[in-house]
Amino acid sequence: MSLHELLSRRPNPAGVVRNLSAEPLERLAIVTCMDARIDTFGVFGLRLGDAHIIRNAGGSVTSDVIRSLAISQRKLKTHSVILMAHTGCGMLSFTDDEFIAELAQDTGQPPTWRPGTFTDPTQHVRHGMAQLLTSPFLSPDTTVHGFVLDMQSGAVDEVEVAGESVPTPIPRKANSAS
Ligand code: ZN
Repeated sequence: MSLHELLSRRPNPAGVVRNLSAEPLERLAIVTCMDARIDTFGVFGLRLGDAHIIRNAGGSVTSDVIRSLAISQRKLKTHSVILMAHTGCGMLSFTDDEFIAELAQDTGQPPTWRPGTFTDPTQHVRHGMAQLLTSPFLSPDTTVHGFVLDMQSGAVDEVEVAGESVPTPIPRKANSAS
């Protein structure tokens, strides 16, 4: 599909909620994979205006994710972070070394970043949660919850960090806001 065709499908008005504060209503930021099949709002029963959504390949906690979360917390008053990976992730289908070698061969130079592939979504989330909980740039009282989305059933399984059970109030918004 051409870009023109894509834009012609765009409803009007679309894509924004008017008269809402830029501060997420649920004080929540969600970090997850860029996978085109995942409706992050639908998974958690959220609506536009409720949460910041930060997405990348794999839902990895990178320095740029920390950058966005630090701004989210300090300038837009979020407090909780949900980190979600999923089954069937494309990042399970190749390795960092393979991808770096491919890029280096095709471009003549290796990337300065790691692709961030992984082999177990649960371990991937656990590692990311630990990164969030120890980042000096996030608020010390940040609430962090981790999940793995099952792409077959749509279930979200909570990931415990370091073997400890963490109570999980999944944020939901009962009513429409202004
Ligand atoms: Zn993915």
